[in-house]
Amino acid sequence: MPPISVMIKPASGSCNMRCRYCFYADEQENRAVSSYGVMSLETMRNLVDKALDYAEHACTFAFQGGEPTLAGLPFFREFVAYAEARAREMSTGGPAAGKPASSAQPSAASAQPAAPTTQPSAVSAQPSEPSAQSSAAADASRKRRPSAPLQLHFALQTNGYAITEEWAQFFAEKHFLIGVSLDGTKEIHDRYRLDVAGKGTYQRVMDSIALLEKYKVEFNILTVITGPSARRGQRIYSFFRQNHFDYHQYIECLDPLEEAPGGHDYSLTPDRLEQFLKSTFDVWYRDVAGGYYVSNRYFDNLLLMLYGREPESCNMRGVCGVQWIVEADGGMYPCDFYVLDQWRLGNVNENTFEEMDRRRGELGFIQESMRVPEECRTCRWAALCRNGCRRNRRMDGDGKNYFCSAYKGFFEYAYPRLAELARRGVGKPV
Ligand code: SF4
Ligand code: SF4
Repeated sequence: MPPISVMIKPASGSCNMRCRYCFYADEQENRAVSSYGVMSLETMRNLVDKALDYAEHACTFAFQGGEPTLAGLPFFREFVAYAEARAREMSTGGPAAGKPASSAQPSAASAQPAAPTTQPSAVSAQPSEPSAQSSAAADASRKRRPSAPLQLHFALQTNGYAITEEWAQFFAEKHFLIGVSLDGTKEIHDRYRLDVAGKGTYQRVMDSIALLEKYKVEFNILTVITGPSARRGQRIYSFFRQNHFDYHQYIECLDPLEEAPGGHDYSLTPDRLEQFLKSTFDVWYRDVAGGYYVSNRYFDNLLLMLYGREPESCNMRGVCGVQWIVEADGGMYPCDFYVLDQWRLGNVNENTFEEMDRRRGELGFIQESMRVPEECRTCRWAALCRNGCRRNRRMDGDGKNYFCSAYKGFFEYAYPRLAELARRGVGKPV
């Protein structure tokens, strides 16, 4: 069985910033309980015990928010110490659950990237194979031998607003992979990423990045593509290159749930996305074809597919993956974009992972994503596109992706050069 990755929201959706396009704030408004506060140590221990019991070979704990650092550094120290102690005990057949050794040991594995195309994202949980399996046979096959070593990985996505020397030291010591949200230059970033007083946060984020660099913490940059910023793709890319930020992940700005897309000044339209993809591909291609590899998660995954591999990015697989998203009260959900009451799979304080996986099957979350729209069946780009992320599909209509025309236009434009890179073995995973 594959390793698992658990995305944890230790401070629920609480945040020390007020980004104008925040999709999680929108999800909070669309559920009965907006904030679940800060995760208790009891919930944390139940989560770790059950996740490690369920995981095979490796377990990634990826912290996310809101802003996860609002749970406080003591929470994180306790979490990591407990997880390390439990993993060690399980591999040596030590004390039973709930009785960890008292001292923390170094992490069993680091989150260092092995190759440009394999750096995991700190923002999104890495799904295991898309599958609706929820059977007793699957449960039985998940029984891990007590002696099998279990590797731990830690990741955290931050807005970079309040990272201190102490945080950076901790991340370095525990080999956290950090994702920092930065939308580009000061002008671009400060348009939507504001603090509680409505002021831009660019300088604080850059100061945080400087601290991560000082302590040699591995980090990547997460950038939200909005309507306005999509016109500045090359400017954003060159700004990152000038600053030697060479691991990029761009995500499409989401319009609020239950709203027709395109109604806000930050809304990303298909035309703008197409413009962004083409323009950033041009500058990215120039670098990588010239021998300087810059990791762009989307382009990396397209190359992976051309090498005959499955994409590691959930939203490119065509079918929703098996994800584990835990809110601060222990509530489990199938995807960060669906932390909503109707998709609640259970609670780590009451349910096992096997039970919650069965609930995933009963709710049909993955099955719903398997529908292939008529137009995709005959589309020449279907093998690479796979209709994109379910969150951008018209699930109540024909099931097609809102950004379909952007993908078509981009593939027409970039495919010859992507194929050429693949022929040359550029970015090929080792
Ligand atoms: S909606 Fe589905 S495809 Fe998109 S990120 Fe969530 S699980 Fe993955
Ligand atoms: S480009 Fe459009 S039609 Fe083709 S696979 Fe993607 S979403 Fe479907």
